[in-house]
Amino acid sequence: MKTIGLIGGMSWESSVSYYQIINEEIKLRLGGLHSAKCILYSVDFEEIEVLQRNQEWNKAGDILSEAARSLELAGANFIIICTNTMHKVAEQIQSNTDIPLLHIADVTAEKVLGEGIETIGLLGTQYTMEQDFYKSRLEAKDIKVLIPERDDREIVNKVIYQELCLGTINPDSRKEFKRIIKGLIQQGAEGVILGCTEIGLLVRNEDTSVPLFDTTNIHAKGAVDYALASSDPSNP
Ligand code: GLU
Repeated sequence: MKTIGLIGGMSWESSVSYYQIINEEIKLRLGGLHSAKCILYSVDFEEIEVLQRNQEWNKAGDILSEAARSLELAGANFIIICTNTMHKVAEQIQSNTDIPLLHIADVTAEKVLGEGIETIGLLGTQYTMEQDFYKSRLEAKDIKVLIPERDDREIVNKVIYQELCLGTINPDSRKEFKRIIKGLIQQGAEGVILGCTEIGLLVRNEDTSVPLFDTTNIHAKGAVDYALASSDPSNP
């Protein structure tokens, strides 16, 4: 079994989910007392969020690159970044370490295509929904990506940073997310990517009429696949 290096803390609410899913999945697949070999480097999210807001992505990338190097030195065999948004600096992180990085958008795209879906809705932070670094990765695999209209993007972003990353689960926000997901379905979405690692804490599959692709779940299980296999995670 390979050792998984997790860059977490963004937010720690979803890092908890990663740790739990990874261990549950190893237990399910290997049985007995098996548990995951993993190392967590958890950053201070306040520092990262300020850098995001000030568009100082390079500096944030430096902090996460340092985390990746520490994980490599500590014995990790590959890395996962436990947030969609910070994949904006995935290339910077990868170029600073010699161990591979399992990209969250790649494992998610594979899952979406596996369901035969061609048009997908995307919910996430404003950076993930509006910028190109994430959507282009899906579009490169011929997946058409739909995002909510501006006011709804603001609601989604606000709920992520002001509620979910602080551990607040608000039933009114769940109603709003369900309404926004309905809007994406009306636009033609055949499924919706929960492209923020905390959204799965708020909405579940039973809340909607189309499949939801929870990136935390998909990424954590993808990490287990790779930990137990021998393929290159940059080409899963
Ligand atoms: N965890 C979130 C994500 O998956 C948002 C936190 C962040 O900005 O990294 O994008």
